Amino acid sequence: MLDKQAFIRTENSGHCPLCGGRLTTGQPTIPFLVRGTVIVIKDVPARICEECDEPFLAGPAADTVTNLLTELRSLRAEVSVIAFPERVRNVPVVA
Ligand SMILES: [Zn+2]
Repeated sequence: MLDKQAFIRTENSGHCPLCGGRLTTGQPTIPFLVRGTVIVIKDVPARICEECDEPFLAGPAADTVTNLLTELRSLRAEVSVIAFPERVRNVPVVA
């Protein structure tokens, strides 16, 4: 199991913990660096800082991303690009 906290930042306060900016919702493309493997996930439901554009994942999206990263890393590709799964894409982001 991967250590989620190592590469997925979650934030539920409504404000960016890095710069204090306001968080808005969006579906950014987020690159994750997992022990030498680059995994790019597109259309991730996330909250995005209006000031510094840093994305933060909440609840179900963070779990889904963790599962994707675990699966893709096991394939041993150096770079993977994948879209966030449709079946969970429209789940509302819990603030
Ligand atoms: Zn920020």
